[in-house]
Amino acid sequence: MSKQLILALSKGRILEETLPLLADAGIEPSEDIDKSRKLLFDTNLPNVKLVVIRATDVPTYVQLGAADLGVAGKDVLMEHGAEGLYEPLDLRIAKCRLMTAGIQGAEPARARRRVATKFVDIARRYYAERGIQAEVIKLYGGMELAPLMNLADEIVDIVDTGNTLRANGMAPRELIADISTRLVVNKAAMTMKHEQLKPLIDRLREAVMSRHGDPTVSA
Ligand code: AMP
Repeated sequence: MSKQLILALSKGRILEETLPLLADAGIEPSEDIDKSRKLLFDTNLPNVKLVVIRATDVPTYVQLGAADLGVAGKDVLMEHGAEGLYEPLDLRIAKCRLMTAGIQGAEPARARRRVATKFVDIARRYYAERGIQAEVIKLYGGMELAPLMNLADEIVDIVDTGNTLRANGMAPRELIADISTRLVVNKAAMTMKHEQLKPLIDRLREAVMSRHGDPTVSA
């Protein structure tokens, strides 16, 4: 019998762009994910199941082998760390930028900076590499509010159109990283289930290539 593969998908904005890409690759959930409260789904491929979980949980599921492969934003992967994971494919969806931002017109604080973010490890590394003293404050959402409420001088957050920043009187400052969504694979599964994984990764690679017309590189 063919070995089962579990593919972990990130809920929310990434999911909206992932499902059409999976469809292009010939992978279709057997029911409408948006209309269901279920978290585990069969697909048209008898050996592939999908789990739909919080984006920040995807690397954990894949690293620990609860899922064989997953779809996760580079921001989440940078924060989680790459241990136990291969990243064979840039899916080139849900593109955005990870940036620092502050109140429009305000200069960055010269001395110790207070930074609000959910990306605490990325932020600590970023400021340390630049020799900037920073106190990093963990928040779980609504980062734009922190400078307005005097909780922080600066934030580290995802920026797409910049509308959220502008609507809150803030402006982007420095680019930390360009972000897109990646396919990640459990390292042990890549060996143990190579026969099942290889055609699935190839299908996805072909779907990305046929959208963009050139080879994708792993990062
Ligand atoms: P925007 O107002 O278009 O700059 O969007 C910024 C907000 O949308 C931020 O609060 C982000 O958390 C969220 N966002 C935008 N793009 C993405 C993405 N690709 N992945 C996750 N969150 C995103």
